[in-house]
Amino acid sequence: MKEHRLAAPDAAALNELLAQVQTCTRDFLGYPVSKDFDYSSLLPFLQYPLNNLGDPFVPSTYAVGSREMEKYVVSFFADLFRAPEDDWWGYVTNGGSEGNLYGLYLARELYPKGMVYYSEATHYSVQKNLHLLNMPGIIIRTLPNGEIDYDDLENTIRMNRHLPVIMLANIGTTMTEARDDVRRIKGILKNLAIKHHYIHADGALSGSYSAFLEPRPAFDFADGADSIAISGHKFVGAPIPCGVVVARKSNRDRIARSVAYIGSMDTTITGSRNGHSPLFLWYALKSLGHAGLKARAGHSLAVAAYAVTRLNDNGIPAWRNPDAITVVFPDPPASIRRKWQLASENGCSHIICMPNVSKEQVDDFIATLTSAMVAV
Ligand SMILES: *Cc1c(COP(=O)(O)O)cnc(C)c1O
Repeated sequence: MKEHRLAAPDAAALNELLAQVQTCTRDFLGYPVSKDFDYSSLLPFLQYPLNNLGDPFVPSTYAVGSREMEKYVVSFFADLFRAPEDDWWGYVTNGGSEGNLYGLYLARELYPKGMVYYSEATHYSVQKNLHLLNMPGIIIRTLPNGEIDYDDLENTIRMNRHLPVIMLANIGTTMTEARDDVRRIKGILKNLAIKHHYIHADGALSGSYSAFLEPRPAFDFADGADSIAISGHKFVGAPIPCGVVVARKSNRDRIARSVAYIGSMDTTITGSRNGHSPLFLWYALKSLGHAGLKARAGHSLAVAAYAVTRLNDNGIPAWRNPDAITVVFPDPPASIRRKWQLASENGCSHIICMPNVSKEQVDDFIATLTSAMVAV
């Protein structure tokens, strides 16, 4: 391979960036991104232009890719999400937002006259997706914990019951990690005798580990979902943003289009598709297995419970939703938010106890937080 050499100042800039990334990664509690991965066995693949363009389940003329691994990743989550055995399909996306775009796209093709319902705690990317797809939507109130207000949902659908219902359910909202109950939503649709409906579950963070919880939250295909999107770089962990979307194959068949140039089916949102991301996810799923993923979730939940107790002990009214790894509390001083990269909305901040977060790190955070609060 031709060698690429950098001039000294450019090499220095790169080193400086590396140091900065390392420091920022250490003090990172505010976003749902795992940092405890080691994919160094995959380094040789950086030498190759992996591209899974087209449909993962249809071979392409372009053969430098990781389709087999991608299919494994999709089948792993289809199984975890209890998708109907002979009626599932999916692909590795560039993230949760693309998975949501795909779910809404399928829903629109099925029900072009459908009305989209989603709660006010929904991720900001959903409104943009609806705008891109030119779909009308109605925002539903949330309960104080961030879960959708089922009464408001039922009343709003009742007023529009002549329209097909396209429901975007949050399986873990961005700020408080509240889960909308898909079975309960399905019950509302049945109650109102809505015949045409589609439920897409946005499981960006919590969708990846909800299947390991007991009792199991109502979020998947068996509970009534028609498609589910998750982010790969959040709970599982990956150096490149990625995600997985799983949908019913019969629905995907309705939008499939064969394209001669790639020798595959054009069933995905983008043309060229990242062939490295499926490798990271495959590696994580194969090395962790169900038991490893479940243990990661257990660790995160234990650290989150610990964080709530310790914050409460220090007089901070922190709380979390049941079986959530996100701990919510009133906005701390700006210096703390900057150091720990804490997002803030409506006067609240959160830390997210991802699998790499330890009790020691929580103690560290609380120590700087309490001293900053005394200083104010
Ligand atoms: C992070 C997140 C998204 C977006 O996922 P990306 O992988 O960042 O595109 C969507 N919905 C929720 C609830 C999220 O937390």
